[in-house]
Amino acid sequence: MALHVRGVVLPDDEVRDLWLIGDRVSHDPVPGSTTIVDSGFILPGLVDAHCHIGIAHGGRPIGSLDEARALAALDREAGVLAIRDAGSPYPYAELDDDPLVPRLARAGQHLAPKQRYLRDIGIEIDEADLAATATQQAKAGNGWVKLVGDWIDREVGDLAPAFSDSGFAAAIDAAQAAGARVAVHTFGEESVAALVRAGVDSVEHGTGLSLDLIDEMARRGTALVPTMINIETFEGIAAKAEDKFPGYASHMRALLAGFPSVVRAANEAGVPIYVGSDAGGGIDHGLAAREMLLLHRKAGLSALAVLAAGSWLAREWLGFAGLVHGGLADLVVYDRDPRADLTVLLEPRRIVLKGSVVR
Ligand SMILES: [Zn+2]
Repeated sequence: MALHVRGVVLPDDEVRDLWLIGDRVSHDPVPGSTTIVDSGFILPGLVDAHCHIGIAHGGRPIGSLDEARALAALDREAGVLAIRDAGSPYPYAELDDDPLVPRLARAGQHLAPKQRYLRDIGIEIDEADLAATATQQAKAGNGWVKLVGDWIDREVGDLAPAFSDSGFAAAIDAAQAAGARVAVHTFGEESVAALVRAGVDSVEHGTGLSLDLIDEMARRGTALVPTMINIETFEGIAAKAEDKFPGYASHMRALLAGFPSVVRAANEAGVPIYVGSDAGGGIDHGLAAREMLLLHRKAGLSALAVLAAGSWLAREWLGFAGLVHGGLADLVVYDRDPRADLTVLLEPRRIVLKGSVVR
């Protein structure tokens, strides 16, 4: 049975009729279809381009596919119909075709330095094994490899690169040769410079980006997923670390203070920016709309740019077609125009995932 929806379809800004035949969109009428939407604003399904459904609340790895399904459901109910999982300690390739799970672009397990990263989350390796492990993790994911670029080094008392510049470059080459794109976690200034110049595909967080590097990313088309919700936790991290690692604490506070202008500069320079909440561990799922509001209010992205970053451009980036004829049947319907007021994103009226009505 085909479904029929009618409303203002974004980004085209036209009143349109769409028919959903299974998991496909048709622009041609389907006789006998059931109308489920006859007004409102229709957006291609939202995207959370950085979250973790393999990491449970509190930071431990999930223990079952059902746990991943339950976390993904929180995103789905918020209108997030495609997820890029930026690193999972628990393999869940079985969910790629699950009708109730948002579309998945998955990294394998984080590639991390030994005994410095979050416990039980990454594959902790010596640099000598980094490139070979990147090749292997390219196969564990379905298109992405996640690299930890920097983390606190307790001996240094501050953020420090996880690997050497040449180690990063070899890992990126190996992952890309295996057909994957590479996403890198960076907070500091040092590692991100080497990683961007080595051709990483996306910078996650990116609090340490300089204006020069932002220009380099714009030239190369390197993406930025700012995860502003995550960056807001820096004050808490700094407060906890202050006694033992005062240098680290003040560094994290400085990165926090400078971040809105980093994202603003990246947007103005033309760096592709995508919405990512960094849910999983310490951050709840289902907050993509909140991240979109932060990008607008704190970093000055226009409402239209925010919608593109969390919907149609993000889908295109991840390879999930939008509401074109023959496209994928993921959509969210809102009562009001989100371009006029992004807060409506918090109240989706209708959600359709993979051709099935969620709400
Ligand atoms: Zn993350």
